[in-house]
Amino acid sequence: MMPRNRWCRANGRLTTREIERRRRPTDEVHGYRDPVSSILIIEDDQRIRQSLSNRLAERGHEVEAVGTAMSGVESAVSGRFDVVVLDLGLPDLDGAEALRMIRAISEVPVVVATARDDEVEIVRLLNAGADDYVVKPYSAEHLEARLRAVLRRSGSEPEQRVITVGQIVIDLDAQEARFEDRPLDLTAREFELLAYLAERSGTMVSKRQILAEVWHQPYGGADKTIDVHLSWLRKKLGESAADPKYILTRRGVGVRLVDPDS
Ligand code: CA
Repeated sequence: MMPRNRWCRANGRLTTREIERRRRPTDEVHGYRDPVSSILIIEDDQRIRQSLSNRLAERGHEVEAVGTAMSGVESAVSGRFDVVVLDLGLPDLDGAEALRMIRAISEVPVVVATARDDEVEIVRLLNAGADDYVVKPYSAEHLEARLRAVLRRSGSEPEQRVITVGQIVIDLDAQEARFEDRPLDLTAREFELLAYLAERSGTMVSKRQILAEVWHQPYGGADKTIDVHLSWLRKKLGESAADPKYILTRRGVGVRLVDPDS
């Protein structure tokens, strides 16, 4: 995937911070890469805001947190942040409306935090321009994993080379996967599907999303194809729909990859 130049397209020019960041990864003399992400949290619940800020800051990120949609939108479009976490239940403005306002001006990646695990609502938000979502309550670790995935997709962070979910180890560079220390013999599509689920491990993904992002096809009753590939994957992971371990499906909702031992 081509890295997209979000700030440049959003503001028509690069911010100082962006110029600085772009220079450093190519600084081959020092081999320096900036591991820090600059995160904006828009969340009215002071306890959540405080604890998320602290946890993410402890993990080395630069964090700024605001409590209202209006100040959030203003900061989000400033070009100062790599990624925005937007709570949908805000006192001054509907979160979806705030998302639309941000999207009207900026392409900064936005992860929405919703209290409702409702597929219709989530699809609506993804269509409205959210890059990903988390369902409350979520841990700082889970949020961070989602933020990293979003940053990778937006080209703001170097590709993570290896993803591990329980006994599954996926090497994205080599396009190889191992299970219980043995190579998994996967077709290209199976590999892509497994990697897609692993990057979002623990989170329910709808078949619509899988079809769009793994098969690059619009939705239209073709989800039998996904079922077939899931059953092949399951077989290779030594499990079945009747006795699942890693691949959990919920009828009419979607599928998620989990570490059965965590
Ligand atoms: Ca709220």
